Amino acid sequence: MPGGPAYVIVGASLAGAKAAETLREEGFDGTIALIGQETERPYERPPLSKGFLLGKAAKSSIYVHEEGWYAGHGVNLLLGSTVTAIDRAGSRVELADGSAISYDRLLLTMGASPRTLDVPGGDLGGVRYLRTAGDSERLGAALADAGRVVIVGAGWIGLEVAAAAREQGCEVTVVEPEPGALLRSLGPELGGIFADLHRAHGVTFRFGEGVSELRGSGGRVAAVITSSGAELPADLVVVGIGAVPNTALASVAGLEVDNGILVDAALRTSDPAIWAAGDVANAFNPLFGRRIRVEHWANALNGGPAAARSMLGQEVSYDRVPYFYSDQYELGMETSGLPEPGRYDEIVYRGDTEGLEFIAFWLASGAVVAGMNVNVWDVTDDIRALIRSGRPVDTARLADPDVPLSEV
Ligand SMILES: Cc1cc2nc3c(=O)[nH]c(=O)nc-3n(C[C@H](O)[C@H](O)[C@H](O)COP(=O)(O)OP(=O)(O)OC[C@H]3O[C@@H](n4cnc5c(N)ncnc54)[C@H](O)[C@@H]3O)c2cc1C
Repeated sequence: MPGGPAYVIVGASLAGAKAAETLREEGFDGTIALIGQETERPYERPPLSKGFLLGKAAKSSIYVHEEGWYAGHGVNLLLGSTVTAIDRAGSRVELADGSAISYDRLLLTMGASPRTLDVPGGDLGGVRYLRTAGDSERLGAALADAGRVVIVGAGWIGLEVAAAAREQGCEVTVVEPEPGALLRSLGPELGGIFADLHRAHGVTFRFGEGVSELRGSGGRVAAVITSSGAELPADLVVVGIGAVPNTALASVAGLEVDNGILVDAALRTSDPAIWAAGDVANAFNPLFGRRIRVEHWANALNGGPAAARSMLGQEVSYDRVPYFYSDQYELGMETSGLPEPGRYDEIVYRGDTEGLEFIAFWLASGAVVAGMNVNVWDVTDDIRALIRSGRPVDTARLADPDVPLSEV
């Protein structure tokens, strides 16, 4: 197999591994190096805040491929290897061990890293972040022993960890400077439904309060001091305040970067030999007519393969409708589209919101821009079609469960 062009992928996670798979599926017979700084072979992160965190999903279930898949497909998987520089003039990447790998085409799938809580005491023991399988294993063990858990941030990770912590019997308080949960990803209406769900399961929210300090004893966190001066006793603090794209390599190499590596609809960067996909990419989406950086599983799953096809010279216009899912307590949901505050003017509900079995549609100028199905399944294709159509809809029919979505 080796010989032919050399394709190098930096970031051995979902986007990178799926890109390697697509290159082989499409008949690429050059060399592929898939380089990752973690020591685990590529895996999926959603279970890390759900079943895997609670010990209900086996480790074997999180991997993207079987262990032998990489060697079996001629993919040179280099784990525990950090790329320290992209030498664009020399068409090679440099590794922390001093070696270098040449490329004809390069794909950047470095993902994102948790935003850190930079307050006094932020580095005390018992202050945890959640990004890797190791983080999840350690957090799962810590939750089993913790009585009082304070979660910083009422975003997806914070709320999923809150649900897991309640399931472990912990006392849970969520501190969030915004006035509600999931505000930036869903807006106040649906964010409120999630907050109520958590309250019903015994979670306490402190909205409108930030964290000003963590206090410890014996090197371990013992209390969270909020911006209002409240002191919240804590055995464990979990910080979920967002993620920042891992763009440093790209910036230093002179690629265009602005909240992610800037790529066009074919996932090409400002260098014609370099592509980017997944959490790290801020991609022009032709459907939305603007760049969007999507930090969701489906974007890594589909974006990696799209970048691979583009690297092979195929015509690619990556215009997926963003898709996200979450499971918390008895609530399972999928969201299609972008329900961003400020970009919708109306929400229409179909079904039983109190009984948590409904679909919410976000509309802008009468057209559906996003939809969330809660404990209602097999409607994603119809919701996507409504979003793609961009046409104004009859809201009475949209709200009526007797009207098939395909006929709204
Ligand atoms: C706990 C958790 C739960 C989630 N749950 C959901 C969910 O329920 N639904 C959903 O849609 N999404 C969820 N997500 C988001 C989803 O997992 C991400 O969107 C997805 O992992 C992005 O994949 P990626 O391949 O782009 O990047 P990543 O998964 O971040 O992988 C990037 C890889 O690149 C490596 N890397 C970075 N820099 C270098 C370098 N210089 N050299 C070598 N390697 C490098 C990193 O170590 C990492 O392994 C969750 C994320 C987390 C953390």
